Amino acid sequence: MYDVIIIGSGPAGMTAGIYAVRREMKTLIIGKELGGQLIWANEIENYPGFEIIKSFELIQRMKQQTEKAGVEFKDDEVQKIEKTVDGNFVLHTNKELFEAKTVIISMGLSPRRLAVPGEIEFNGKGVSYCANCDGPFYKGKKVAVIGGGNSALDAAEFMSKVASQVYLVHRNENFKAFDTLINEVRGRSNVEIIMNSEIKDITGDGKVERMVLTNRNTLETRDINLDGVFVEVGRIASTDLVADLVERNEKNQIIVKNNMETKTPGLFAAGDVTDCEFKQITIAMGQATIAALSAYQYIQMKS
Ligand SMILES: Cc1cc2nc3c(=O)[nH]c(=O)nc-3n(C[C@H](O)[C@H](O)[C@H](O)COP(=O)(O)OP(=O)(O)OC[C@H]3O[C@@H](n4cnc5c(N)ncnc54)[C@H](O)[C@@H]3O)c2cc1C
Repeated sequence: MYDVIIIGSGPAGMTAGIYAVRREMKTLIIGKELGGQLIWANEIENYPGFEIIKSFELIQRMKQQTEKAGVEFKDDEVQKIEKTVDGNFVLHTNKELFEAKTVIISMGLSPRRLAVPGEIEFNGKGVSYCANCDGPFYKGKKVAVIGGGNSALDAAEFMSKVASQVYLVHRNENFKAFDTLINEVRGRSNVEIIMNSEIKDITGDGKVERMVLTNRNTLETRDINLDGVFVEVGRIASTDLVADLVERNEKNQIIVKNNMETKTPGLFAAGDVTDCEFKQITIAMGQATIAALSAYQYIQMKS
């Protein structure tokens, strides 16, 4: 019986682990991809204490600290969670069952992919899922931003200040973003807006050099030479396994109270998987800190 089981070994999961063991809770992290979304990042420039740090190094440092603190790790995927009649939780992976008094869900988000040739091959070599993070590496270069929502428009606006040329490619007739943001982007002389078009291929020699677009109405294709493709077609929360135990918003993100508890007593959530509007490492860690301390409080009050 664990005091707490944390699902996900990203920044939120590892932070929750550190705080939990400091309260002498028997703690297990079950995670399927150490580091979470940080795997997709390159260098982090907004993590206090490090002016700049390779995300790989940050992941390793977090892992070492978490393990040294006494957290157990299990490299696996949680498939199912049940609440027992005595108020505990049973977590199922493909191979094993685990029991805990409390659970912290820190399953994060995964980027929605374009699913076009070249996307995986050039990931980190010109294909990026975070303009905010990787944008500064494209100073004076040509880039495309794919998408038509607020995050794509935001990325295009940001990149117009960094890159020499930005192609904003959207598959539909209209953007789904704030008017002020759309007008801002329309007003940038170095942004070309390409509507009703889909990216079909990303090519290059070791790094991104070209993309091929198709107009959905005319079926005409267009080749564009560039250095980077920012995919901003959304991130998805895969929270179906806790659907019965939590309330979710329209994006399947988990709604939490101020103490990070869900609608099920003893079940907490933290990080990008929650309905917090902003998705950043420091926010995920702050929420995870609250979740771990709240889980401790929950056990204290129950016993
Ligand atoms: C390319 C990129 C660059 C970024 N750069 C920055 C930056 O510079 N600064 C910044 O502050 N933020 C940055 N971010 C955002 C930052 O990475 C996230 O805010 C942060 O990782 C959220 O942490 P998390 O632990 O909540 O979730 P995640 O990092 O998403 O971790 C969740 C973990 O849970 C695992 N998981 C999911 N389901 C299960 C399951 N059923 N069983 C077991 N494990 C499961 C996932 O595999 C994953 O490992 C960037 C994001 C991306 C994509």
